[in-house]
Amino acid sequence: MKIEYEDTFVKVAGLIGGPDYVRVARALLNNENATDEEIASATGLKIKTVRKALYDLFGRSLISGVRVRDPKRGWFVYRWKAQRDQTDGFIQTQKKKILVRLKQRLEHEETREFYFCGTPTCVTRTFEEAMETFFKCPTCQRPLNRIDNTELKEALRWKINQLEEDIAK
Ligand SMILES: [Zn+2]
Repeated sequence: MKIEYEDTFVKVAGLIGGPDYVRVARALLNNENATDEEIASATGLKIKTVRKALYDLFGRSLISGVRVRDPKRGWFVYRWKAQRDQTDGFIQTQKKKILVRLKQRLEHEETREFYFCGTPTCVTRTFEEAMETFFKCPTCQRPLNRIDNTELKEALRWKINQLEEDIAK
């Protein structure tokens, strides 16, 4: 069986840890119940890198690990397996986190006024900061004008709506 890069489990692993995780995730799908060493030899990654990825994925409940005795050497090893049914749950949780952040951002945009002088290297100021300097940029001395954030708020509302519909599915 050839596993495609587009597999959700592999994609999620990649989002969490980048290319190394992608290789580990692919190896896990290709070889169910693989040990750290088997994954290391299949991916060509260092055992340390493989373990770091495995423990991280395990900590996020995206893989399961079973401790078994290695019949040849006698010591205990872990056999790892992708928890593919957990992938969707993980994605849902991520979406909810993004939704919370977007809502906070919208609230921030709705409740505060921002001022800007128009100079690309200068920073945006709050109403209080702008008032303190009599609506003049303390850096470049140009007047501070209120930023029209209508479009940004619209975009945020649209994105929030999309995400809420997506999560409700
Ligand atoms: Zn300025």
